[in-house]
This record gives sequence, C-alpha cells and structure tokens, in this order.
Amino acid sequence: MSNNRNEGAAAPSNFIRNIIEEDLRSGKHDRVVTRFPPEPNGYLHIGHAKSICLNFGLSTTGENGRCHLRFDDTNPETEDMEFVESIQRDIRWLGFEWNEHLYFASGYFDRFYELAIKLIEDGKAYVDSQSLEEMRANRGTVTQPGKHSPYRERSVAENLDLFERMARGEFPEGAHVLRAKIDMASPNMKMRDPLLYRIRHAHHYRTGDKWHIYPMYDYAHCLSDSFEGVTHSVCTLEFENNRELYDWVIRETGVPCVPRQYEFARLGLNYTVMSKRKLKQLVEENFVSGWDDPRMPTIAGMRRRGYTPSAIRDFCERIGVAKANSTVDIGQLEFSVRNDLNAFAPRVMCVLDPLKVTLTNFPAGKKEEMLTGSLYPHDIPLEGEREIPFSREIYIERSDFMEDPPKKFHRLAPGREVRLRHGYVVRCDEVIKNGSGAVVELRCSYDPDTLGKNPPDRKIKGTIHWVSVNRALSAEVRLYDRLFKDERPDGDKDVDFKDHLNPDSLKVVTGYVEPCVADDEPGSRYQFERQGYFISDPVDSDPDELVFNRTVSLRDSWSKIAEPAAEQPKTAPKPKPKATAKPAAPKATRERTPQQQVLYDKYRDLGLSDEDADLISAEDTVAGLFEDAAAAHDNPKGIANWVVNEVLRALKDRDGLPFDGAALGELVKLIDEGTISGKIGKDVFEEMLSSGEGPAAVVERKGLRQVSDAGALEPIIDQLIAANPDKAARYREGKKSMMGFFVGQVMKQTGGKANPQLVNQLIRSKLD
Ligand code: ATP
Ligand code: MG
Repeated sequence: MSNNRNEGAAAPSNFIRNIIEEDLRSGKHDRVVTRFPPEPNGYLHIGHAKSICLNFGLSTTGENGRCHLRFDDTNPETEDMEFVESIQRDIRWLGFEWNEHLYFASGYFDRFYELAIKLIEDGKAYVDSQSLEEMRANRGTVTQPGKHSPYRERSVAENLDLFERMARGEFPEGAHVLRAKIDMASPNMKMRDPLLYRIRHAHHYRTGDKWHIYPMYDYAHCLSDSFEGVTHSVCTLEFENNRELYDWVIRETGVPCVPRQYEFARLGLNYTVMSKRKLKQLVEENFVSGWDDPRMPTIAGMRRRGYTPSAIRDFCERIGVAKANSTVDIGQLEFSVRNDLNAFAPRVMCVLDPLKVTLTNFPAGKKEEMLTGSLYPHDIPLEGEREIPFSREIYIERSDFMEDPPKKFHRLAPGREVRLRHGYVVRCDEVIKNGSGAVVELRCSYDPDTLGKNPPDRKIKGTIHWVSVNRALSAEVRLYDRLFKDERPDGDKDVDFKDHLNPDSLKVVTGYVEPCVADDEPGSRYQFERQGYFISDPVDSDPDELVFNRTVSLRDSWSKIAEPAAEQPKTAPKPKPKATAKPAAPKATRERTPQQQVLYDKYRDLGLSDEDADLISAEDTVAGLFEDAAAAHDNPKGIANWVVNEVLRALKDRDGLPFDGAALGELVKLIDEGTISGKIGKDVFEEMLSSGEGPAAVVERKGLRQVSDAGALEPIIDQLIAANPDKAARYREGKKSMMGFFVGQVMKQTGGKANPQLVNQLIRSKLD
C-alpha cells in the first residue's frame, strides 16, 4: 500500500520539500525518512492533520521514502492505549499508511538509559539534587547567566551510583534529576544544563512498573529519530530553540545516524481551541459528548460530523507550509468540505421546520404519485435517480412561506405560486391559523400540467423543497454550529476559554426526509437540498431511528452575521476588496442604479439567473470581467457561474485578480471542451490566482489534462469492481446510487483527471 494519497499527483512544493529535494540531489541522503510523533495523551486534531499530511507527503519525495508513526510515550501519567488506538485509526482514515514502521519511544527505554550512562561516564551529564525551585532560580534569565548547581562537579562514580539507584526506584520523586552538563551561561536557555531524566513512580501503559525514571522530550525525541534513521525531523516552530540541544544530544551520545530538525508554523484556526489539554477539559467536563463530538476539531469529531478525508487533505494542502505562525479562517476548512461533498453527495429533500400543506385538488384517498428526481445536479458527472412520493399532504419549510412577503420573496405566499422541487407548481389558496393566530396549515392547489415544464403564461420564480407527510421518514437532525462564539477563544489569558463556548452550537430538531434514504448505511452523506450537507450519524443512527448530523450548511451563514466584527487584529491586515462579495444589505431590498439595471436586464437576456445577473451587475469591475470572459468564450451562463462562485469569493481576500476576463473565459472553454474537468478547473483557477498564469499554461505545467482514454481507465474500474463485490451487487439489485461510489473512487484514483462522462459510461457498461 502506498503511504501517500497524493502519489501520482503533483506533490505540493514547500520550503521543506525544497530542502529535501536538494539533499537527494546532492547525494547527502539517498532516501527520505520522516516521522509523525504524537504523544498518546489525547485524540488527534486538525493541527495534527497538517503535520500528518506534511510528514507523509514529504516522504514521497524521491525513491523509497517512508514515514514512521512513532508514539512519543515518555510521560506515563497521561498516556493510554485508548489514544494509541484512536491515533492509528485516525491516521489511516486520513489516508496514510506507515506499514511496518510503527514505533514507540518506550521501546527505546533501555537504549536511552545506556546512552545516559555513557554521557555520565564522559562527564557530559550529572545528577542534580537541587529542588525544582532551586533549579529554576539558578537558571538565570535571558539577560543574566545562570548559577552552577552545587552538585555539578559530582564524580562520575557518584553520578553513576545515584543514577542507577534512581532507576531502581530508591528515591522519591523530585529527589534527583539527571542533567546535561553544557553551559549555564548559554544565551539559549535550553542549553543551560537541561534535564534529561526525572524520577516518576508511575505505571506506564506499555512498560508497566519497570522504570522509575523517564526521559525528557529533548533527550528522547532526537535519539528516537536517530535510531530509526530519520533524515528530516519536522516539528513546529516552538521547538526552534530546542534544535541546538537536539544536535548536542546527537553529537555527544555519538549515535551513528544524524537526523536534522526543521521547523514549520503550526496551524491555528479561529473559533477553535487546539491544545489537547483544553480539548480534554471539554470532554472531561462534559461540555461535549466525547472526543468524537461532531463539534470538536478532532479528526474523530470531524469524521462523525461528515467531513471527508479528502476535504481535510485538500485543506492542508491549500493552507501550505510556512515559517510564520498565523491563524487560518475556519471558513477555509468548510470551503474544502463543501467543495468535496458537492462532487458526490446525493441530493435529497428534508424539511427541518415543517408546515403542512394540503393540496386540495389531489383527490382524497388517492394513492400517492411517484415522481422522480435526479440524485445529482446536471453539472455533476454522476447519475442516479430516486423516487419521490407526492401526495395530498406534504410538508414544506416554514420559512418558505410568508403571509405578507416583500416583493422579492420568490417562495410561497397567499395567492402566489411556487414550484415544488422535482414536482408541480402549487398555488397558495388559503391560510389556516390556530386560535392564537399562528399559521398551522396552507391549503393549496397544484397544476397538473406543470411537471417538468413551466406554465406558458406565468413566470414561476422560486422552487422549494418538500416531502410527503405520510411517506417521509422522521429523523433526529442535529444542527451543529461553531463550538465557540469568539474568534479567539483562548486569546485572552485572563478569561476562561470555556466562557466563549457558543450556547447554540447544537440544536436538535425533528426533520422529515425523503424515504429513499431508508436503506442507506449509517455514515451515508447527503446534500439536503437548499439546506446543507448531512451525514447519518455513524454511531447513533439506525434504520428505525435515523439521526443526521449537519456537516456544513450550504453557504456560510455565520460569516455574514459575524462579518462586521470579524476584522482580525491578529492576522496580517487584508487588503480591502475592491469588488465586494458581501451583500451589504439583504438582496431582497437592494435597489439598482439605472446603470446597474441596464446591465441586469442585459444579463437576464443572456440567460443568467436572477441572482447571478443581480450579483454581477452590482459591481463595475465584476461586470467588466464577466463581459471580457464572455467575449472570449461564448457560454455566458457557465461563465456567470464561475464569476459568482469563484471570482467573488476570491475577491473577498484580495484586491483585484492577477488575470483578466479573457483568461477566465479561456478557463471555462477548456472545461467545456473537455480538456479538463470542472473539478480540476477549480484547482487551475486557484493556481491562476496565485501565479497569474493563464489557464492553458497551468494545465500544461501541472499535467492536468483530462484522461479520456478508455484503455487507461478500464483497469482501474475492473479492479474497483472486483474489490467491492457487495457494492456492485447492490447496484445490480437496483441501488443505482452506488454508481456515485464507483465514479467517486475512479476520480480519486486518477487525481480527479478522468473524464467523468466516460467513467460513468464505462462503469455502467460493466455493471449492467
Ligand atoms: P500538546 O497540545 O499536548 O502540547 P501537541 O499538540 O504538540 O501536544 P503531539 O502529540 O506532541 O501534540 O503532536 C504530534 C505532532 O503534531 C508534533 O510533531 C506536533 O508538532 C504536531 N502538531 C501538533 N499541533 C499542531 C498544529 N496545531 N499544527 C501543526 N502541527 C501540529
Ligand atoms: Mg507536543
């Protein structure tokens, strides 16, 4: 099995990869060995994911590289098998494999001990018997040198005797420590006779009661690296000052293999705490339901929330590897999640806040009528349909009705018409209220001539989702929001981070979902149309009691609400966007200038939707870009889609684009002609943003041309079908949505480069 999912695709370049490439070129190393060294004292979180992607990713540079998984288990009090197991599960789930290279620092305890004896014999280490307070006081300050310990000149024989007795458990904790004898005046505080060992009468989850002394991180970590032949030891920036000590231990112990340490910036996310100590507190004090609570930034939590491994890897790749710490907007992670789910999550309808609608002209007592709906929208190259029962009584979303709506409310209101998704046009004839004036039911009529076509004489502007009252399945739906309401929950040392918890981070409602999901396995993902992405809870959901977790809503409703306050003093100031993508006022009330109106009408004539025409005509620069693009490639609707979804988002973070409208038109042309897929198109777009290159140049440089060669794709498909006989069987039994699984897998294996239509066609011909 490969140890990296990106194999085949261009590996992201970064400064550490550059160093490694140079070391391979110069012959300093003939292969790369990296490691991921978690301490098994908690679950992995998204910050670890960054380190995992980086370390496993780097190990694919050159030939025969590998990445080890090493548990850094030198603190017996906090470590546990539960964590060892969860960490392995999470890394594998992310898509990485260490094969036989699983190690434990505790497996090296004997060797650490022998080398400590050697250091003592060489006069490089001594047993100190000062109290911790004395040691601290004598360490000096950044401006003042420290003082020598009165025990510093103990004889080798005395040191050996004391150290051996420490190891045998003859002394209480704190009585003695082993220290390196380096330099109490060193400008680097880490070099002022650092601790190598301390006494702990603790039970270790792997070595039991054998040891009464445990090595310090700075001593154990570098030696473990060396024992394993690690070439590049990558860690986060806070270890920069430890590097000198790392090198000292390697040199003075004389171990043959000399690894080098490199530091990168750790990941920080806003609205999130990432310290394991704090996450542990949330779990132990029951602020969340466990380490895998879907609100937790842990891998286990994100998995349960419905995030996909590829979305997390994509995020880690997008944020890159830097030398300076910064805080990443959690919206970026959600962007990667939406982007990934969009491509394969089947669409179904679910009503979360039901309002009953009786269709008075649907004969009472008549059996429901079966409508069909595609599982995927037309721009996603997956096929599949579901049956949707349509009956006299349906539920719609309460927010899709207004008794006294503003003009631009294109949903249901007294006397107004709306289309039921995948169904008919209905008109609201009567509003039924209860004694206190609340609307409890709508009485509507449906137009039997409007299935799949618009009435010739009326314009229907809105489409809403709905379900049949009798046939819908009720489900517990868990609506998750951010766990913290403050952008920097642990930014202020004087305030408990728990004071910033978002009291509305979980809302549980009863939803009504289409019956087609009934047989799906727990852990299945969906887009509930117009709502967001959801997963049936892998732990709590079962066919009799469905439970869904909201993975992410369709649009980032939070950033709109929080935006005015969200100027982050901590991150580098963002240039103010010229064309602002934030709708400053709710769209329904935005007035157009006469100029904007002209553009709007023109765009509507080109076939753009109301919303697209509205957004594009709102800003001169955006309108100009759109027109240049449409001049370069004749597909105004397709281009509008890119402008609204990608360009406006990109303009949020930057002042103008580094390429012109013609380049955008060219990009859409490459997609329309089938040179690249739409998904790859997004990567090309990102690359154009960062490099300013034209799309064709990016495609050539990165080798992104679509694979439309059946001969290249067939072996992959054959192998997939052979490896998943159960899924193939279910497809043949009529579960057509299994198609999505197969297509998705082929796309993954080809780095998204396979021609999706062709893949679809090939799979169908093999399965049917
Ligand atoms: P703690 O919060 O308990 O100090 P830790 O997060 O450093 O622990 P480890 O188990 O020691 O946890 O981490 C394993 C590896 O993951 C280390 O190499 C560490 O540098 C890396 N790592 C941890 N947090 C982040 C982060 N936020 N961003 C990038 N890498 C991280
Ligand atoms: Mg750590």
